[in-house]
Amino acid sequence: MIYLDNAATTPVPRAVADAMYQVLTEQFGNPSSQYPMGVEMKAAVERWRAVIAGALGCKAEQLYFTSCGTESDNWAIQAALWQNRHRGKHIITTAVEHSAVLEPCRWLAQQGYEITYLKPGRDGNITVEQVAAALREDTALVSMMLVNNETGYVFPVRETAALLREKNSPALLHCDAVQGFMKVDCDPEGWGVDMMSLSAHKLGGPKGVGALYISERFRMRNPRPLLPGGGQERGLRSGTEATAQIAGFAKAVELRQEHYEEKLAHMAALKEYCRAKLLDMGGVVPVGSGTAPHILAVSLVGYPSGNIVTELGAQGICISAGSACHQGKASHVVSALGLDKKTAAGVIRISFSPDNTNEDVDALCAALKAHRDSRFPML
Ligand code: PLP
Repeated sequence: MIYLDNAATTPVPRAVADAMYQVLTEQFGNPSSQYPMGVEMKAAVERWRAVIAGALGCKAEQLYFTSCGTESDNWAIQAALWQNRHRGKHIITTAVEHSAVLEPCRWLAQQGYEITYLKPGRDGNITVEQVAAALREDTALVSMMLVNNETGYVFPVRETAALLREKNSPALLHCDAVQGFMKVDCDPEGWGVDMMSLSAHKLGGPKGVGALYISERFRMRNPRPLLPGGGQERGLRSGTEATAQIAGFAKAVELRQEHYEEKLAHMAALKEYCRAKLLDMGGVVPVGSGTAPHILAVSLVGYPSGNIVTELGAQGICISAGSACHQGKASHVVSALGLDKKTAAGVIRISFSPDNTNEDVDALCAALKAHRDSRFPML
């Protein structure tokens, strides 16, 4: 199999699975138990938290474990709106966020919140000037992703944090960094972001564990707990810690940290190689100009992406459709880019891991060419 869909999820390396297996079968104590196995587990969870926090450049106590990126996003949004409930009901986000942000916003709109959706330009970019123009006195929350999962565009999160400070805005800033963490510069503490969402399964960790960074500034204001209960995660997100998943998350981060810069450079080089090779084929156009090293979006103009993904999948090559995600309807990201119908129909996403090779790209390009040569384009 040739797996080029690493923005969807990633395989778990053997060392990560081994670390999890050991916790599941031997170190299985509940961190809240008073006997040695429990006490050891409590200490181990704190060690693993410190590993992930180290990679994010924050303090361990600023990181709270959740069950996934979606949970982190939902929690951040709820916490911000609760905190600023007396300030206003206006939210700024982008039209191209993941549905883990857009769906809560859609639901909130039904509860009387007003949402401003910033639209990207044709290249996929969102600018801090757009945020400045949308910012109001009653803005309670700005939620902006770090890397767009379909175009690989890196959004101006740092600049947005600076803008909120400069304007002395009470709005809280949340960043969905699920696709950005350990792929691009990511420094919530240095930038002044209030909350940042992470997920393990995008970087070689298991599914079912994520984290939310909460700044000290926000924590001191006593944020609303997501899950009141037994008091785990410093009282903000109760529930027995998912020790094996957390161990796997930390191990995956440690593995990614080995030769980190080389891994990023390798993915960026693969992306460039793939882009050049595909554009050389003719009839393929770039979609957006995202600079994240691991995500490449292109369109096989006029060839519906749903068919491409299915046909390549049958040959053991895994990529994603940027359009036709839901019964032939273009994805919200592709729609927001304002592409013409034939270009929108043909958008595919190819996403890399440090383990992919030039041979993977060669096989993908050959399969795409064969697909195109054996079909008629849309009229
Ligand atoms: N945010 C972004 C940008 C994503 O790409 C994803 C997953 O694809 C999520 C959030 C959701 O993360 P999880 O699958 O851990 O819930």
